[in-house]
Amino acid sequence: MSKIFPKGPDGKPLTTDEFGDHPPLASYHYAAYHGLNCPVCMSEDLGFSHARVNDLGTLSQRGSCNGCKAIWSEEYVLTGYKNLQRGPEDV
Ligand SMILES: [Zn+2]
Repeated sequence: MSKIFPKGPDGKPLTTDEFGDHPPLASYHYAAYHGLNCPVCMSEDLGFSHARVNDLGTLSQRGSCNGCKAIWSEEYVLTGYKNLQRGPEDV
């Protein structure tokens, strides 16, 4: 499994060299924080684009940090549905 690093302001993936002793959050840690913190600097001052459909059952949106200017993509996966109801009967 490959490590996924967020991209820097120049669009190139950030590397551990760029973070010194502070590598970015792992993707699963980012999800564990519910995407509320920048994976690089942990700032909560984030911006997001509208979500768009990638493949069947997945959406993505671009996130950006107003603190350190990192950019990344969040991915959402369809997990099921809720609140299923029958429609109204025809009269
Ligand atoms: Zn940041």
